[in-house]
Amino acid sequence: MRVRLSKHAGFCFGVKRAIKTALKANSISGSVYTYGPIIHNPQVVKDFDGKGIKAVENLKNVKIGSTIIIRTHGVPPEVERQFKLKKLRIIDATCPFVKKPQEYVRQLSRDGYTPIIIGEADHPEVIGIKGYAGKIAIVVGTPAEAEKVHPVKKMGIVVQTTQSNGNFSAIMKVLSGKSREFRILNTICNATHERQDSALKLAGEVDIMIVVGGKNSANTKHLAEVCETTGVETRHIEAASELQTAWFRGKKTAGVTAGASTPDWIIKEVAERIKKL
Ligand code: SF4
Repeated sequence: MRVRLSKHAGFCFGVKRAIKTALKANSISGSVYTYGPIIHNPQVVKDFDGKGIKAVENLKNVKIGSTIIIRTHGVPPEVERQFKLKKLRIIDATCPFVKKPQEYVRQLSRDGYTPIIIGEADHPEVIGIKGYAGKIAIVVGTPAEAEKVHPVKKMGIVVQTTQSNGNFSAIMKVLSGKSREFRILNTICNATHERQDSALKLAGEVDIMIVVGGKNSANTKHLAEVCETTGVETRHIEAASELQTAWFRGKKTAGVTAGASTPDWIIKEVAERIKKL
């Protein structure tokens, strides 16, 4: 089986930076936690756990004075206040591209705009951004949800970094009739664009696409969706062990891409395994 790797795949700038930050913190202090898994990749989280960097969902078992790392998705200000109350040493690894919509929505609500966040309401990044936007912020995930938004005088819009351009445009088409004054900041991340564009191109040139990354990773899921739009058979896997020979029967070339939270060694392992099939 011939294997072609997507031009842009795997760890992005924000993830590399967060991982480096966490490892450095662990080499200095013995008691290091990440608030939520450092990235949406179970293998990396397991590796961190083995190194003593524990992922926690709340502060119940976190000892006073420990180090807590804010991952790339960021957290709402309220959560940061809880860290301070527990006298934790905070290391902020929020991706600078996520900081942008956080700061922008805060300004929007100060300026009297109704902040709209285009994204998945239950995604940690969106929850974090919403925390900066005040009580009147609205999260819109689909054009159907946009239909339900009541018209407002002034509307300010930001986008979850991993959204696809297609969904953003479709939602904007609906929202454009809901206000007379808009401020729009397209905060879709370039790394996401690059991965989606190169995956789309590759999907059009191969017989099957293998998308590698955590099943809970939004950007990996979107990558798989983008590949599927070409009509090519697309499989989303987390590890090489999930590959099935039957998928490749009668096919000559397989394309491989990976979400921004997938380490290089997993991508290589998958490519090697496919070659041998
Ligand atoms: S995908 Fe973009 S926004 Fe998200 S962590 Fe990577 S660089 Fe930052």
